[in-house]
Amino acid sequence: MSYSNFGEKFTSRSGIVSLMDDLGDAVASGDMIMLGGGNPGNIPAVVDKFRSRLRSIVETPGQVERLLGSYDPPDGNKAFREHLAALLNQTFDWPITADNVLLTNGSQSAFFMLFNLLGGTMADGRNKQILLPLTPEYIGYADAGLTADLFRAAKPTIEHLGPHRFKYHVDFEALRVDETVAAICASRPTNPTGNVLTDTEVRELDNIARQHNIPLIIDNAYGTPFPNIIFKDVEPHWNTNTIVCMSLSKLGLPGVRTGIVIADEPLISDLAGMNAILNLAPGNLGPQVAMELVRSADILALSEQVIKPFYADRAVRAMAVMDETLAGYRYAIHEPEGAIFLWLWFEDLPITCDDLYERLKRRGVLVISGHHFFPGLSTDWQHTKECIRVTCSQDWDSVEHGLRIIADEVKRACD
Ligand code: PLP
Repeated sequence: MSYSNFGEKFTSRSGIVSLMDDLGDAVASGDMIMLGGGNPGNIPAVVDKFRSRLRSIVETPGQVERLLGSYDPPDGNKAFREHLAALLNQTFDWPITADNVLLTNGSQSAFFMLFNLLGGTMADGRNKQILLPLTPEYIGYADAGLTADLFRAAKPTIEHLGPHRFKYHVDFEALRVDETVAAICASRPTNPTGNVLTDTEVRELDNIARQHNIPLIIDNAYGTPFPNIIFKDVEPHWNTNTIVCMSLSKLGLPGVRTGIVIADEPLISDLAGMNAILNLAPGNLGPQVAMELVRSADILALSEQVIKPFYADRAVRAMAVMDETLAGYRYAIHEPEGAIFLWLWFEDLPITCDDLYERLKRRGVLVISGHHFFPGLSTDWQHTKECIRVTCSQDWDSVEHGLRIIADEVKRACD
């Protein structure tokens, strides 16, 4: 059987596909320490909320029929969109209504639609790219283009925050924005590094986007107001030139596959049309499960008082383990300003991070090699071979055990 260009591209075993396979195999083997995936932690107080909401749906006459037996409209459950618009309006003063809100089957599918709607081959035959102003950046973008080379990325500057801490910044001097850039996109907080773009960086990116009449896409999967895994005080950002993508996944609901796009009405309406073609409708379960939390605004307290502290504590404890176990060795940790990961940099390590990944896998620890997280970066940069991403969300004993094995393996490589 021969495949189309589309088929060839989407069946090639690159990037995220082989990574997800690796993760799947590791889960199936049952004895791996899983520090590789993006699963959120099981936080009992959060799971209880979902359990009682599901119980109430099951016990309320007519609700199961509503949940399972009908399609939502292509832009998603209207009541949920209204409650969410009201919440964002009250919390951040964003002047939005339900018409600025679209639901998708996970934010991953929102990115697929957005990137290919805005970038790729234009009507006049020219190609346009999505600019990632700060790498490392989320691996899930890498293969999402219908055309090759959909992404262009810029190297960051590195601020050293102490002997073993650092932070990436956008290198505005090196940022090349011209008529071939279709949109600017950044995750904030960033997967994999836990970096949070500063307010000044976001304002500057917003200015650049407006000057070039292109949108700024902010991937808010870990951001505010939910799940609010941000450990710094930063301003949320939205305006009619900004597209904010959110998700219910890191709240603890990756299984319901609900993504949320907040954007100007005409774009939302176009995306709803795409949603209808690709999916008919987004799933009902996510909005139904989260409905009451959003309507009552309880989702704010849950995020602020339960979810954020859970991950902030994980970051502190994980750093303490690395500082203890790697004392006397060369390592640096990206300042965890948000999200659920630790990004470790082993400068001048005698082996590549991919070798380290393989060695760790043999010792029963699954991490992700850092070189996957530089989509769109065309320059050769040694740094891309010196980092790994470690997920800190699973049960603490395993995370700690896994971190100790990582440190041991790094020491073996150095000694
Ligand atoms: N964006 C970022 C930064 C992520 O880390 C993830 C998942 O890990 C996604 C988007 C996609 O999330 P989902 O499709 O579950 O909403």
